Amino acid sequence: MSDILSVRSLRKTYQSAGKTLTVLQDIDFTFDTGSTNAIIGPSGSGKTTLLGICAGLDRPTSGDVVLAGQELSRLSEDELAALRNRSVGFIFQNFQLMPSLTAVENVMVPLELRKDREARAKAMDLLDRVGLSDRSHHYPIQLSGGEQQRVALARAFSNQPTILFADEPTGNLDAETSDKVVQLLFGLNREVGTTLVLVTHNAELAAQTQRVIRIKGGRLV
Ligand code: ADP
Repeated sequence: MSDILSVRSLRKTYQSAGKTLTVLQDIDFTFDTGSTNAIIGPSGSGKTTLLGICAGLDRPTSGDVVLAGQELSRLSEDELAALRNRSVGFIFQNFQLMPSLTAVENVMVPLELRKDREARAKAMDLLDRVGLSDRSHHYPIQLSGGEQQRVALARAFSNQPTILFADEPTGNLDAETSDKVVQLLFGLNREVGTTLVLVTHNAELAAQTQRVIRIKGGRLV
């Protein structure tokens, strides 16, 4: 199997109040194309930071990330944005839906280059797949947490990413909604081979993935 993601000697530090805070160090791993993976570890261990760097949303202090065949450190911000738009889906911990857009308009955001009618039809189809076709004209504030999470999933999948990153995809969801979201994620992996990278506290969810990496205090353990 080929690697979709390869992380080498990754280090991330922040400067705060004149001090250097090392959040990640000596991180090395690879994930296979089409695999399902979990990143686990205590709160504050650096999982969200690692996910953002792997997805090209943030830059490491040193080390390399090779994502979908591209060495991210060699890419300009524009090239990085183009790669993300082409190959990467991301589900944020707090969903980050745009409050002024309806559910269907949120799902259409990554489809902005398409004709409006085509994008809307595709977004409606995606909402239907996450069981929300009857909520398409609701604004985020009118949706429950689980519904917002499913809109975020539909949006993350709208550009048919080869790799989908999700930060606590079942956090704050009741058991039933959590099951639905997990089924949707693993369905994407089975049906179209989307690689999954899930940051989670949910041991049951991590146990369902093929590979689990654990970080503690910014290092792999
Ligand atoms: P986790 O997702 O495992 O809870 P995070 O990656 O969110 O951990 O955070 C790891 C550490 O990095 C924490 O100590 C956090 O306070 C710190 N951190 C995250 N982002 C920043 C930032 N922008 N500036 C300074 N410190 C940060």
